[in-house]
Amino acid sequence: MKAANYFEHAAGPAVVLTVPVLGDNFSYLIVVEGLAAAVDPADAAPLLGVLKARGLRLEMILNTHHHFDHVGGNRELKAATGCRIAGPDDPRIPGLDRPVKDDERLTFGPLTLEVLCTPGHTRNHVCYYLPSGPALWTGDTLFTGGCGRLAESGAATMWGSLNTLATLPGETQVFCGHDYAVENMQFALELEPDNPDVRRRLAELRARVREGRPTVPSTLAEEKATNPFLRSGSPDLRRTLGLTDVSDMEVFAEIRRRKDAYA
Ligand code: ZN
Ligand code: FE
Repeated sequence: MKAANYFEHAAGPAVVLTVPVLGDNFSYLIVVEGLAAAVDPADAAPLLGVLKARGLRLEMILNTHHHFDHVGGNRELKAATGCRIAGPDDPRIPGLDRPVKDDERLTFGPLTLEVLCTPGHTRNHVCYYLPSGPALWTGDTLFTGGCGRLAESGAATMWGSLNTLATLPGETQVFCGHDYAVENMQFALELEPDNPDVRRRLAELRARVREGRPTVPSTLAEEKATNPFLRSGSPDLRRTLGLTDVSDMEVFAEIRRRKDAYA
């Protein structure tokens, strides 16, 4: 089996292998001491290829939510490796045998991962945080420059979840579920045309794409500086939207509505 194209990043004691799948999804392998945990395995074959090429044993699948483009490889990977499947307690996740709760800790080799419940995109969505990275897997909650659609919850729910993530350290590397980074940053620049961080970041993300590098990881500090969904308080952004006397949450909700209509 030919190994899929993949990219490698260090995250504290772990190595993160980013595997682009299904066109615009990212699946990940968190690797330590020859063991791997697969985050959102949309498709089994490319991950099995990388596991084989690197001589890794798959211990665990970590699903962020039930959508097919995050769980599509669950059953095949479990059958091939005997791994366990962790995820939010949702019957729509195939093969789930380790439902997780908010604030729960999962150990994986010498690593400890923390579960953060982040409903909004779906009723049941979790993110996985590796404090020793620090690194965060955000599924379809927080994207590079964006956030997930409100498929099953209201804006206030997603807003609460994004604020939970925003309390983590700025240097936290963010590994998200989809590659929408360039389109997201083009939208961000329309909302904040005078923000030099957004302009620089759009150029940097375009360069990454041109050079065949992935648009992940981001960092939480970069997201706070450039992601409009974390910038409801920005006076420039509020001016563009014509919203001054409303709450940050209402500004967030308006940005989400505009993004739905944008792309
Ligand atoms: Zn999704
Ligand atoms: Fe998705």
